Amino acid sequence: MEQERESLEFDIIFVGAGPANLTSAIHLQHLIKRHNAQSANLLEPTIAVIDKGRYAGAHLLSGALLDPKALDEFFPDYREQGCPIEATVTNESLWFLQSKRKFPLPFIPEKFSNKNSLIVSLSRLGTWMAEKAEEEGIQLFDNTAAAVPFIENGRLSGIITDDKGLDKNGYKKGGYEPGLLLKSKVTVIGEGSDGSLTRQLGKHFPTHAPAQRYESGVKETWQIPEGRVIAGEVHHTFGFPFEADVYGGGWFYALSPTLVSIGCISSLGPDAPLCDPHLNLQRFKLHPLMANTLKFGQMVEAGARTITSGGLDTMLPLFGPGYLLTGESAGVVNMQRHKGIHLAMKSGIIAAETLFEALLHNDFSTERLKSCEERFRNSWAYDELYAARNYRKAFDNGLYPGLIQAGLQLSFPGLSTKKTQRSLPGFSPLPNRGLKKNKGAAASIPEFRSDGIRTFSKERSLFNSGVMHEENQPCHLRIKTEDVAEICLKKCATEFGNPCQHFCPAAVYEIITDPVPALRLNPSNCLHCKTCEVADPYGVITWTVPEGGGGPGYKVS
Ligand SMILES: Cc1cc2nc3c(=O)[nH]c(=O)nc-3n(C[C@H](O)[C@H](O)[C@H](O)COP(=O)(O)OP(=O)(O)OC[C@H]3O[C@@H](n4cnc5c(N)ncnc54)[C@H](O)[C@@H]3O)c2cc1C
Ligand code: SF4
Repeated sequence: MEQERESLEFDIIFVGAGPANLTSAIHLQHLIKRHNAQSANLLEPTIAVIDKGRYAGAHLLSGALLDPKALDEFFPDYREQGCPIEATVTNESLWFLQSKRKFPLPFIPEKFSNKNSLIVSLSRLGTWMAEKAEEEGIQLFDNTAAAVPFIENGRLSGIITDDKGLDKNGYKKGGYEPGLLLKSKVTVIGEGSDGSLTRQLGKHFPTHAPAQRYESGVKETWQIPEGRVIAGEVHHTFGFPFEADVYGGGWFYALSPTLVSIGCISSLGPDAPLCDPHLNLQRFKLHPLMANTLKFGQMVEAGARTITSGGLDTMLPLFGPGYLLTGESAGVVNMQRHKGIHLAMKSGIIAAETLFEALLHNDFSTERLKSCEERFRNSWAYDELYAARNYRKAFDNGLYPGLIQAGLQLSFPGLSTKKTQRSLPGFSPLPNRGLKKNKGAAASIPEFRSDGIRTFSKERSLFNSGVMHEENQPCHLRIKTEDVAEICLKKCATEFGNPCQHFCPAAVYEIITDPVPALRLNPSNCLHCKTCEVADPYGVITWTVPEGGGGPGYKVS
């Protein structure tokens, strides 16, 4: 029987309070205010933004170097308005690392340069942007996850939020509240990388975009003694701790003379069947370049998140019946620059302009929403993504062929020796990543002992991620019982040695043998990074939203 639930109506609902959607909501209000100041035909739409974090910014994690191009466009007085910019890039280096040695590149090519970029904490920026959105009259609902799309007459007509107060077996506890039905004329989906609502929408409205590809980023923020770095110092690395046939890289940014961001991006592709993004960062910190800087410092925050890396080839259409996609929900990331925030913001600006036109004409048809595609094609964001479209692909055959091709792309943007990816139904999971079967290698992974000073176990890192969930709720990581029995404990154990135990940075997956072999899940540890859904070789894991408010509690990530 259909569950009875309270229903609320809005003109526009934004799902996700990341940089893409917050930009969009703020810009839309600016456009409406400008219009209302000059016209008798007043627009007064109801606009809401929802986010599954327990406060705005709680789930936002990034490097982060911000190209201010889009911010300048929609919020030119952002500095005067108190935008939390930590530093402006003062100097930068690009290093090739071997385990004990470092080799600086003599110059930084223009395409990789971060001149004029700003160093920010994305969670702080998100908190500030959410405050600005509320000042503009937008209703913000944190602690609220979009669980299920509400489809009516062949279009997305809103969303159903998470049920609150179910126990781990799905029975109602005291204080049970069914999820709300939030109806809208247009829903703007900005869930970031591998959104659960975005995946569900793909089943209702399939596209023919090639399947997306992803990397996994693990990051720590450290307080260090003064005198080692200057605010605005930026380092990028390639080589160690990654083997030459595996894609990956590291970064180190100085937010202030005493606060630094350090992290690694690790491949989740076929080149890295046994990827352990957490371990990669721990090993990276032992390199002398990092170790000397971090000495006597203290890790203050840790976290993880996937990043989409397929670029223009794998982008989803920015519109559909009743909805628009923004930011990483559509896949707008430039992997050549390892940057997505400015593109997410630009996609938000484009969505806002499309919504403004729709409101003006009181026309929310798919045909009207489609105009966002033309806006995007005519934007600098498209040009930037077009020039970088083949960058990530260049590394599919390893570091050295990749470097040669990436070097050639500086003179011949977009040059590639590989064909554009074949077309698969969009949003499809990657049931077979073409991984090299590697059970033997899994058994031979050397045990890494963290020292608790510079390197940490997954459990210890979690302590600094602010993660928390209501313990007694249905498990949000769904694996069918028959898949656990036939795939996890038999096929995957034999072919891969259960890589979930390695790739999850939060130690959520454990294979136990006593009293009988079983998969034990610790969903309360989950950082919502989405690595498992992407890296699972058989595509049997489905990540669904837990009760809103659960997940990490980032403050400086
Ligand atoms: C490790 C790492 C380092 C990076 N470094 C940089 C960098 O230095 N510079 C740069 O420009 N880019 C960087 N990026 C990329 C950049 O962070 C992203 O491209 C950008 O944040 C995308 O913005 P977004 O708004 O699309 O999504 P996100 O920033 O991911 O925000 C999505 C929001 O939606 C919410 N949400 C998701 N699903 C739901 C749901 N179902 N219901 C309710 N709320 C939901 C989340 O809680 C979150 O608040 C990095 C990414 C990673 C992972
Ligand atoms: S279980 Fe959670 S923390 Fe672990 S990989 Fe999946 S999404 Fe990330």
